Amino acid sequence: MTKRPYLIFGTGNAHKGIEATEIVAPTGVTLRTLAEFPEAIDVVEDGETFAENARKKAIEQARHLQTFVLAEDSGICVDFLNGAPGVRSARFAGENPRSDQRNNEFLLEKLSDVPLEKRTAHYVCHMVLAAPNGEIEFEAEERCRGRILFKPSGDNGFGYDPLFEVVEFHRTFGVLAPEIKRAISHRARATRRLIPKLFELVAAGKLPTM
Ligand code: IMP
Repeated sequence: MTKRPYLIFGTGNAHKGIEATEIVAPTGVTLRTLAEFPEAIDVVEDGETFAENARKKAIEQARHLQTFVLAEDSGICVDFLNGAPGVRSARFAGENPRSDQRNNEFLLEKLSDVPLEKRTAHYVCHMVLAAPNGEIEFEAEERCRGRILFKPSGDNGFGYDPLFEVVEFHRTFGVLAPEIKRAISHRARATRRLIPKLFELVAAGKLPTM
């Protein structure tokens, strides 16, 4: 059987893994999350921007594992909250334990008196691919605009998706089919930009195989 090239995706978030894997499928490259690599290190996300965190996650992990590593940092920026929670999206309602449900409740509380027209927000995804020596080979940042509804709807996706309405579709990502999220999300847009680089790495035989 022929061997398939793979790329390590430096995340422990299975949802992010599934969303990105399906987008790069046409290149023949399989994305494998850190769940499959117990020797991976825990990179501390202490940057003030999505770019800083994404670069750190890709570079440190690539040097440690001595292979190409893709990483991304993402989050939601709410205009009424001056861009918060931003890089703190995963821990908006506190650490220990991090909880999507508590984050969503906390966001609704913060926006409790805010009318619909002032609840605009956007997701951001900053993606970085680092080579084994830590050099950045690819970098992209993309957004997806929407607004925060007054209550959650739908179970699809993860994080803030049940609250995040994509205005053109009149639905939250919690309700919209995964195929739609894969077409228009911040992560989908950033991941699509990676495709030419993946073809290049495969042609040059630079990716590991399994
Ligand atoms: P990270 O793992 O530090 O990049 O945290 C990203 C956090 O941002 C997640 O825990 C979610 O709270 C939020 N987030 C990022 N992308 C999405 C998305 O596609 N849907 C919903 N929430 C997201």
